[in-house]
Amino acid sequence: MTANLIKQADKVLAGTYGRFPIVLKKGQGCRVEDNDGKSYLDFVAGIAVCNLGHAHPAVIKALMDQAQELFHVSNLYYTVPQVELATFLTTHSFADRVFFCNSGAEANEAAIKLARKYFSSRGEDRFRIIAMEKSFHGRTMGTLSATGQKKIQAGYEPVLPGFDFAPFNDIEALRQAITPLTCAVMLEPVQGEGGLRCPRPGYLRKVRELCDEKDLLLIYDEIQTGIGRTGKLFAYEHENVEPDIMTLAKALGNGLPIGAMLARESVASAFTPGSHASTFGGTPIITAAALATLKTIMAEGLVQRAWETGQYFRKRLEWLKSEHEVVEEVRGIGLLLGIKLKCAGAEVVKACMQKGFLINCVQDHILRFIPPLIITREDIDALIGCLDEVLGTEK
Ligand SMILES: *Cc1c(COP(=O)(O)O)cnc(C)c1O
Repeated sequence: MTANLIKQADKVLAGTYGRFPIVLKKGQGCRVEDNDGKSYLDFVAGIAVCNLGHAHPAVIKALMDQAQELFHVSNLYYTVPQVELATFLTTHSFADRVFFCNSGAEANEAAIKLARKYFSSRGEDRFRIIAMEKSFHGRTMGTLSATGQKKIQAGYEPVLPGFDFAPFNDIEALRQAITPLTCAVMLEPVQGEGGLRCPRPGYLRKVRELCDEKDLLLIYDEIQTGIGRTGKLFAYEHENVEPDIMTLAKALGNGLPIGAMLARESVASAFTPGSHASTFGGTPIITAAALATLKTIMAEGLVQRAWETGQYFRKRLEWLKSEHEVVEEVRGIGLLLGIKLKCAGAEVVKACMQKGFLINCVQDHILRFIPPLIITREDIDALIGCLDEVLGTEK
């Protein structure tokens, strides 16, 4: 059954993913189960998506209730869940307005379009955006052009013009990259795909000051860092350095496809009827589930819990480093954590999977741990035990 399904999959699915040879069937909390009944502790969580874990009753209920009521209508009309979700997001962030879409890449597309529209509506033809080296902003033509990794762009040239790059954490290089045509700076407050790279203390504030000095918009891509992942609802709250535009997706719907682009009123007002759109964006069935996700995260204190559990997890990873020569560095913040290895990570990921733990690897040698925010210390100890064994056999 499993072997046949994999054979069929490899025949009919686009070959865009190198998939692991398991077929996942069920999920509950921090565990998933495959077709053969084997259970795994899930430290991937759909890539920082299922913050409440799998099959959370509050999300299921919101989805079922809304399904009975109304699945979808056009954005030509108002609906209650969409307005409530936008109200929640603006109440809990710097932003005044929200544009809903269906993925992270789409949210970033909206951010790029808004930044350009903002300046064109002021009669200025500034359109260039400075993004960061090793950034990741998505796979559409626009967002891959904003992504500072050659491997993401390779084969799709020519990329969209209008993007410049500066190394992350280097304020002087950023200043150098500014030209009279620059309109915005776009960055992830913690680089996820780029290898769990955190900003140095004070860096984001300096970026903000530079943007203010040069009249540039500051765009945060919080698609991976948002919704409690780093121990704050949004990662920018750690140093309270607000952007003008922010994008969300991943954990916003706990597994349902949704993206959002948030902005201050003065910037958001550049979007007027007809300037941007999405058929499914903010559709009632998805926004109802996203609202339930956010309300549950708040009601259960999961943002603070992510911070505390993250501190514990980090300590355990530091211990692992002290025990294993092959661990070079512990990285990340909150429950967005990783260890940099002196060897390739792929074999470690495979060995952990065999032992019943799902983890993943970015940039070839950095293991990333992004479990549901409800992960327990016992679960973390179990993973550390597994890694201790697996790394013990690595040379
Ligand atoms: C995942 C991710 C994206 C892309 O989101 P999709 O929903 O896959 O389009 C963009 N930016 C960051 C920081 C991400 O982690």
